Amino acid sequence: MSTQKKRSYADLVKRLSKTLDNTVQIFTLDHIKYSNNKYPFQKIILGVHNPRRVLISAGIHGDEPAGIETICSFLENSRYKKHLDQWEITILPCINPYGFENDTRENHESKDLNRLFKVHNPPLEVKLAKSIIEPSYFDMTIELHEDCDSHGYYLFQKSNTPNGLEIGVKIIEALKGVISINSDKTIENMPAEKGIIHRIKDINQMEWWPMAGYSLSMKAVHCLTLETPTMLPMDTRVQAHLLAIDQALMCNHQ
Ligand SMILES: [Zn+2]
Repeated sequence: MSTQKKRSYADLVKRLSKTLDNTVQIFTLDHIKYSNNKYPFQKIILGVHNPRRVLISAGIHGDEPAGIETICSFLENSRYKKHLDQWEITILPCINPYGFENDTRENHESKDLNRLFKVHNPPLEVKLAKSIIEPSYFDMTIELHEDCDSHGYYLFQKSNTPNGLEIGVKIIEALKGVISINSDKTIENMPAEKGIIHRIKDINQMEWWPMAGYSLSMKAVHCLTLETPTMLPMDTRVQAHLLAIDQALMCNHQ
């Protein structure tokens, strides 16, 4: 398969390293290898040992670059600093480097990584993402996605405590002035309320897990999957994700 690369992962790695001062480390967990390419799979940690812990991830679907742009902006513009009084922030900036370069949803093996968190022997990208989700470690996980079919922003919310829906509501309320909200009663064949899909099957009944399913199984307290509409300009999509992250991290629900 030989395609014209749409983006450069090497440039992304350079860009990310420039955003961080020497108090912050980028870890390369392993390399995703494909043909002559060797993509470093990276993890960034800010505010180590702070009392609350969040995992923010992007790029599991390679044709959804807004999440990665959001993480770049979050770092470049020091948006994270105001959260460091409380949060240890772990970032997986790009889970699917091949997809990012080639603008494909799937990885180099044509696999949708976000369907493979329950399988016995998943692709390396999934193994590496799973390796950092330790049992009962994260208070919150935030996954940044895009939806090319949606006319507005929406999110999936599921928690291991009863009060999680309030976080989703707060995010959608804050976004109303910034971006259109998908208020459809059904989104992705699931019942939705005011931009929030929260009536999600019990994960034990699911045949396959997205990353959020695995996070829930590992007792992450609140799991949010944020979907920004691809049809809007990149800057609007990114600003919406940034505001959503701010709102989520400003929530006091433990
Ligand atoms: Zn996606």
